[in-house]
Amino acid sequence: TPLDKIRNFSIIAHIDHGKSTLADRLIQRTGGLSEREMSAQVLDNMEIEKERGITIKAQTVRLEWKGHILNLMDTPGHVDFAYEVSRSLAACEGALLVVDAAQGVEAQTLANVYQSIEHDHEIIPVINKIDLPSAEPEKVKAEIEEIIGLDASNAVLSSAKSGIGIEEILDAIVERIPAPKGDIDAPLKAMLVDSWYDPYLGVVILLRVIDGSIRKGQQVKFMAAGTTHLVDRVGAFRPKLENLPDLGPGEIGFITAQIKEVAQARVGDTLTDAKRPAAEPLEGFKEVQPVVFCGLFPVDAADFEKLRESISKLRLNDASFSFEMETSAALGFGFRCGFLGLLHLEIIQERLMREYDLDLITTAPSVVYQIELTHGGGHIDLHNPADMPEPNKIETISEPWIQAVIYVPDEYLGSILKLCQDRRGIQKNLTYVGGRAQATYELPLNEVVFDFYDRLKSLSKGYASFDYEQIGYREGDLVKMGILVNEEPVDALSMIVHRSTAETRGRGMVERLKELIPRHMFKIPIQAAIGGKVIARETISALRKDVTAKCYGGDATRKRKLLDKQKKGKAKMREYGSVSIPQEAFIAALRMG
Ligand code: GDP
Ligand code: MG
Repeated sequence: TPLDKIRNFSIIAHIDHGKSTLADRLIQRTGGLSEREMSAQVLDNMEIEKERGITIKAQTVRLEWKGHILNLMDTPGHVDFAYEVSRSLAACEGALLVVDAAQGVEAQTLANVYQSIEHDHEIIPVINKIDLPSAEPEKVKAEIEEIIGLDASNAVLSSAKSGIGIEEILDAIVERIPAPKGDIDAPLKAMLVDSWYDPYLGVVILLRVIDGSIRKGQQVKFMAAGTTHLVDRVGAFRPKLENLPDLGPGEIGFITAQIKEVAQARVGDTLTDAKRPAAEPLEGFKEVQPVVFCGLFPVDAADFEKLRESISKLRLNDASFSFEMETSAALGFGFRCGFLGLLHLEIIQERLMREYDLDLITTAPSVVYQIELTHGGGHIDLHNPADMPEPNKIETISEPWIQAVIYVPDEYLGSILKLCQDRRGIQKNLTYVGGRAQATYELPLNEVVFDFYDRLKSLSKGYASFDYEQIGYREGDLVKMGILVNEEPVDALSMIVHRSTAETRGRGMVERLKELIPRHMFKIPIQAAIGGKVIARETISALRKDVTAKCYGGDATRKRKLLDKQKKGKAKMREYGSVSIPQEAFIAALRMG
């Protein structure tokens, strides 16, 4: 395809502003699928994505409009996947900025739009949902100009739901977004935008060709990975897979090359011709590192092998999470896993439970702490609170910090500021734009990973939005807080906390555990302790003996029911010494409330 007939664009939108619906409309209008094939939201094809309404994997679709090829690149919609977003944006020359006509500009829109501007994109504002009675397109236009600084006078008004403005958007893409540049005679240079595992095709690689061309039978080299592969298929998604003879400069499409694991095809890598390689790889390759770690253990120890297999299978499709075997005195054999963020953790955990039918215990998520040991003892990256050295062996301990931008309507500002303050936040900036406040805070990541987002949403009735980036490590007065149940330490519940918040955190934790652990035949003390010092304590009182005595005296069916119930309950409990702790306790105890 000649360069001047190609347009590559992505869609930037805050969650729920209509990105997927609009994408579906564009596909439908350009004839990619028949009416019958238009199942709800073609691009969000993973079950969890549909349920949560967010895009986890980037997808791309090739559209044809008035003699042009338009490549629509869908980008992941969550902060956990920021690097993937940046690569998708780097593959485009322009973007549609979709803003809900009733909601206006939100924080997440901002983060993505700034990235898009950094990539020199031509941005077309689209004001969506104009069918809503509460739509205020003029106000939203003003917001786009005032907050983002983009000219919104030629914004397209649309309703993805009712099909208004769709042709105008397609025309605007052709007229306003610049064609890609590239040299067909230069050695192949293509950026790996995404990769995933397909049971029939093996690893599929989505790429953007910069220079040269790629075709079936070509030997290609992955410059960062250093591996060479034979291309056995080249094509594009329309959105159905279609084979093509080749992909030239400016084009976006896929290849397969008999690759077994996505870990061999890392996002951001440069593909070149093995026989005539490019002199330099493309800029911007980065190996993404997990930031949140937790242990995953089977509730039933007999499921360990099944867990190992399932985790390995998931890893085939997701190179950004890591796992290694871990043993815990209390939980037995399991895995220490690393994730890009809490959402990523929840997605993996949910898939293991749902798709692989595993009952799991998740230990307290932790960020990675950096510890300098005393007497030149060296440096450790601490992934697991259970491995924390004795305090006298620690010279300094540092924790990762983030910079967060929060957008919130004025009326909720007070409680949001208090939340940030409680989480050791440092206010950097506070501005007001049109009835809304924009607060910039520096916060320790460990105060955010657990339930910050949930709290933010509930305190603001869902109106606050939040986006963050990591800004490096800072020293802190951090200590390990252990939890003792019936005098026994429960490793899986230990966590690293800041000394100033330890007591509040410890008290909350023992109070919640008191609710979560069922009563036994004896009294159970629950304690939170730092070193040998108990900082909070609750006691679960003993069951009265006659309660069970009465049961045993009952009729046979009732007794059997009770036994069955106990057996079922047991499957989801862990024994600690003589105490049974239900599975839910492990995660629920972490919600700070
Ligand atoms: P995404 O999170 O940006 O991908 O948003 P979706 O496309 O999933 O849309 C979020 C919700 O808004 C869904 O319930 C859509 O049906 C609805 N929606 C999308 N576009 C429009 C529109 O133009 N008008 C109205 N009224 N609702 C819309
Ligand atoms: Mg969506």
